[in-house]
Amino acid sequence: MTVSLITLGCKVNQYETQLYRESFAADGFEIKNSGEPSDIILINTCCVTKRAEKESRNLISRSLKISSKVIVTGCYVEKEDAYLRERFPRIEIVRRKDLLNKSKVNRIHYFSGHTRAFIKIEDGCEKFCSYCIIPYVRGRVKNRETKEILEEIKELAGNGYQEFVITGVDLGAYEGLSDLLRKIEKIKGVERIRLSSLEPGDISDSLIEILSSSPKFCPHLHIPLQSGDDKILQLMNRDYTVNDYRKTIAKIREKIPEICISTDVMVGFPGEDDEAFKNTARIIEETGFSRVHCFRYSTREKTRATKLANPVEEEKKKERVKNLILLTKGISQKIKERFLGKTAAILIEKKRKDGYSFGYSRHYLPVLVKGKIGTNQIVKVKIEDLEENYLIASIPG
Ligand code: SF4
Repeated sequence: MTVSLITLGCKVNQYETQLYRESFAADGFEIKNSGEPSDIILINTCCVTKRAEKESRNLISRSLKISSKVIVTGCYVEKEDAYLRERFPRIEIVRRKDLLNKSKVNRIHYFSGHTRAFIKIEDGCEKFCSYCIIPYVRGRVKNRETKEILEEIKELAGNGYQEFVITGVDLGAYEGLSDLLRKIEKIKGVERIRLSSLEPGDISDSLIEILSSSPKFCPHLHIPLQSGDDKILQLMNRDYTVNDYRKTIAKIREKIPEICISTDVMVGFPGEDDEAFKNTARIIEETGFSRVHCFRYSTREKTRATKLANPVEEEKKKERVKNLILLTKGISQKIKERFLGKTAAILIEKKRKDGYSFGYSRHYLPVLVKGKIGTNQIVKVKIEDLEENYLIASIPG
């Protein structure tokens, strides 16, 4: 029997798919590449945006054409299993908790198709940002056992993985994050550690201390801003003000001056007038993010934001996103320019057809290295140029 697994959405979903993959393998299934025709296709869906739901539905339709058994699981199932059952009567719906409970393996040993291993340490979110559906589909915060996480990383490091991305739905909600990171840092074979995303309020002094204490921690953090306007932040039920955000960034930069910070910004939230939008643009400029993911707000049924007054017209949202993309591109180019002429360590992830090899620097900047280099090697390079989004580098000598 063959099985193929497809994942949509975040790093936590990708981790869970890997767990299911290894569980099928333990049951004697032959694992096919993602999306390949197989006896069974499992789709791990996402519902974070309307677009993610549409993509999930498209994948289900396509899979039904090439496989007689399609198992559908993940966040979209948690949100709307009855609807999915009605729309696709031939699919088999399996709840996430049932799959996880049934799984023959309780930790992963490799990460299919990835050079970097994502490690889920926590599930669930209790923050209830007013636009977000995730707390309703992922439930309350649940920490994984420290021992199990450390064993998993030890095994992956033993299997040649060098970089670990510590991941959670609300990573900062993990109790004892700093202690855990200290333990991970000591594991033999772990060369690089990243944190997937941290809310501003979860960045404590002790966390900054540990991040600055070892070269294994990559100097990059992703800290969602969402809006640069206090009135909008409050409507979003985010638990910080623009000034709190500013102070957090200053505190981090005081200890780790060269750090790169990326963020998410949501444009067109109800009530976002021109002034509020300008405030967002202002803090983006002031902070100097290495990367900004700009999203247009879209209503998610069952969330509190659906009841808010003063919706922003779609055309206005599009125009604002366009403006922010232009602004952030200029800023991120300037940050990348700082690295010209410097050396950097790149973990090679892909050999490209055009003669370059692709990987990320420790600062999480995308780099193209001249030459075809074997994947999963950390190479020292000299940054020579900047083209579009990529830094261009070569191996000296
Ligand atoms: S912190 Fe907010 S945006 Fe993130 S998952 Fe929780 S509710 Fe959603």
